[in-house]
Amino acid sequence: MVEIRKPIQVAEAVERVMAQVSYTGTEKIPLEHTYGRILAEPIIAKHDVPPFDRSAYDGFAVRAEDTAGASGDDRIPFTVIGEIGAGQVADRRIGSNEAYRIMTGALVPENADAIVMLEQTVESEKGFTLRKPFSAGENISFRGEDALEGEVLIPKGAFIHPGTVALLATFGYAEVEVAKRPVVGILSTGTELLRVDEELVPGKIRNSNGPMVVAQLARMGIQSKSYGMEADDLEACMKTVEKALVETDILLTTGGVSVGDYDHLPAIYERLGAEVLFNKVAMRPGSVTTVAVLEDKLLFGLSGNPSACFTGFELFTRPAILRMMGAEKPYMPRMKAILGEDFTKPNPFTRFVRASWEMTDAGPVTVPAGFNKSSAVSSIARGNCIIVLPSGTRGFTKGMEVDVLLLGAEQGVHDWVL
Ligand code: AMP
Ligand code: MG
Repeated sequence: MVEIRKPIQVAEAVERVMAQVSYTGTEKIPLEHTYGRILAEPIIAKHDVPPFDRSAYDGFAVRAEDTAGASGDDRIPFTVIGEIGAGQVADRRIGSNEAYRIMTGALVPENADAIVMLEQTVESEKGFTLRKPFSAGENISFRGEDALEGEVLIPKGAFIHPGTVALLATFGYAEVEVAKRPVVGILSTGTELLRVDEELVPGKIRNSNGPMVVAQLARMGIQSKSYGMEADDLEACMKTVEKALVETDILLTTGGVSVGDYDHLPAIYERLGAEVLFNKVAMRPGSVTTVAVLEDKLLFGLSGNPSACFTGFELFTRPAILRMMGAEKPYMPRMKAILGEDFTKPNPFTRFVRASWEMTDAGPVTVPAGFNKSSAVSSIARGNCIIVLPSGTRGFTKGMEVDVLLLGAEQGVHDWVL
């Protein structure tokens, strides 16, 4: 008898997975390797930024009081007593109507309080003349204006992008505490599968899910461990899954999670004693996506259908991995877009349509990326986003506003579930 599965909503499924993640722990790595990692400690300002008052321009450091009353008819002369390049310091205080030539980024002399830009001066014999008064603080970057010592600037759990790297360098983090990356195993199941380098023979197809999932992980900066392909043979699959579970933190399988005679993953979860979190989700494609947990390991049973496999990974696996690493915002970025063509097929399940979007004068417009069955592979290649269409009986027509999930973000950037 075929088992009747009860579908759960996508958001509920995501929450069930997220509730099960165990943290990967942390490690200290050199700053130059931190791009793409997740901060395991907040960045707290170790000192003021900038650490001293500095000149914002190339020009002259003066005392503002000496510029009072300057005008076109009554230019005030200044004597230049020296030069301060970036990284240098003045050798004495400035006296009345004296100035230092100063460069951008140089420490402002102790008793100077304004910087006159070079182009606001006219050169004179001993220095320059001015035609307007300056107020104290003009053209100075003040100590601490960017960040104050002790301020929490970036929270723990944030993705490290190039700007984050700059901030870490500013405070002298030669080594940074980041989340460890989980070891993720991939096993493709299906007697019909051929390796990429094999010729087609009747009834067989090449394994496209394996390489796709490797790339989906690589896009997140996660290296995977491949367990190749297994035919739909319960014992063989069981053996490989058991081996993989010893060597990995997370195991992704593709195929074999449905209710067909050769779908062995459900039996494998049972034999392992793994707790199945769900095996039916109210979504298209990917309704058979199954997630199970064994001790602290997550087993993602992704559908064999390429579009379903892809979608299941992006919706469930990706945020789970990011959360394991303590990511603050593990979900895909999303936005509103105008549907560029009709999508009239109503569905009782939430539909995730492979699509592409582009910016137009009217705002972002999105269109489905062609043939969109769960078995489709071409639309995954053409798409750069996923349109989310709520379940219901109505179709969706051109011009309607829809939600779009953006693919290819460096990391999770959203704290929204669905
Ligand atoms: P399954 O999830 O095993 O029922 O497979 C569903 C469909 O996806 C079938 O048409 C399979 O041939 C196909 N399929 C399964 N695994 C893969 C794979 N690794 N690459 C491409 N197609 C696959
Ligand atoms: Mg199969």
